[in-house]
Amino acid sequence: MKAVLIKEKYSLKTMDAQVPEPKEDEVLIEVHASGICGTDLHIFQGDYKGTYPITPGHEFSGIVRKAGPKVRNFKEGDRVAVEPNLSCGVCYSCLNNRQHYCENVEAVGVTLPGGMAQYVCAPEGAVFPIGDLSFEEAAFMEPLSCVLHGVEQVKPDLADSVLLIGAGPIGLLLLQSFLVEGCSSVHVVDKDQDRLNTALEMGASKTTTDLDSLDRESYHIVCDATGVTFLMEKCLDYVRPSGRILWFAVPHVDAKVSLPPFRMFEKEISIFSSYTSCRNSWQALHLLQNGRIKVKDLVSHKLPLEEFEKGLKILETHSEPAMKIMIMPQES
Ligand SMILES: [Zn+2]
Ligand SMILES: [Zn+2]
Repeated sequence: MKAVLIKEKYSLKTMDAQVPEPKEDEVLIEVHASGICGTDLHIFQGDYKGTYPITPGHEFSGIVRKAGPKVRNFKEGDRVAVEPNLSCGVCYSCLNNRQHYCENVEAVGVTLPGGMAQYVCAPEGAVFPIGDLSFEEAAFMEPLSCVLHGVEQVKPDLADSVLLIGAGPIGLLLLQSFLVEGCSSVHVVDKDQDRLNTALEMGASKTTTDLDSLDRESYHIVCDATGVTFLMEKCLDYVRPSGRILWFAVPHVDAKVSLPPFRMFEKEISIFSSYTSCRNSWQALHLLQNGRIKVKDLVSHKLPLEEFEKGLKILETHSEPAMKIMIMPQES
């Protein structure tokens, strides 16, 4: 089979590899769609906790081609997606329903071989049936699960108003998730008018390229989906007294923000962060399957495995407009 291998930072190749053999509790998956994520770029750039060498890819779907003898629920031919974070089930965090802080966590595509390959193995407990969802849509199960976890942190009340900064693929998933949660309006800010047009189609009640044009202190929830520190600070200007801020994007590892603590006290502001997901895959899958959250328009590129590096470079340099870049390993 063909597989991408990041040997060390900034060193990547597509190579021939042995099709892996599933362990007794694992399935072998023929990968049909595998989304490139910012995390893959971080692994390539060497500033994320990956292990080298690694085959990246943690947002993927495909068809089961083989099942180990202890697998109960899947058989050859089943269409599936994978929740990449594997928790041990027995540590303090796992026993307290914080599986995303498992002390023995492994992650497909981060510490274990991932979906930027024609085949990959995953334990049955991490595999979800996708029904008749397209492979590209099902590859959004993982990023959407992270978004749902973020929305779960900030717990919108019915009819809350939301300001969302950033309308990339994650921002547009946040937009739809806030609406599913019963928020009455979501205003979206981005510098890219095409992205704002997509936001309008997906239910945004107002869009603008000019943050300064919006009313200050007028939103119950302000959400940053950019990770740009200047904008993360700006959230405080737009949130209502006793409102909530969600910093969702991944900022640079050394980034610092400056906040006025007196205003936070005076306005009784809460700031929430969100790290990966915690048992949100089932929710994500069902929202996708029932059409409550739509992702087809978020795919801007479909590339063969050999062009994974090209996809990374597009994300790194913004050399062309891009939303979600999907790798199609069987089309290589
Ligand atoms: Zn991801
Ligand atoms: Zn654990």
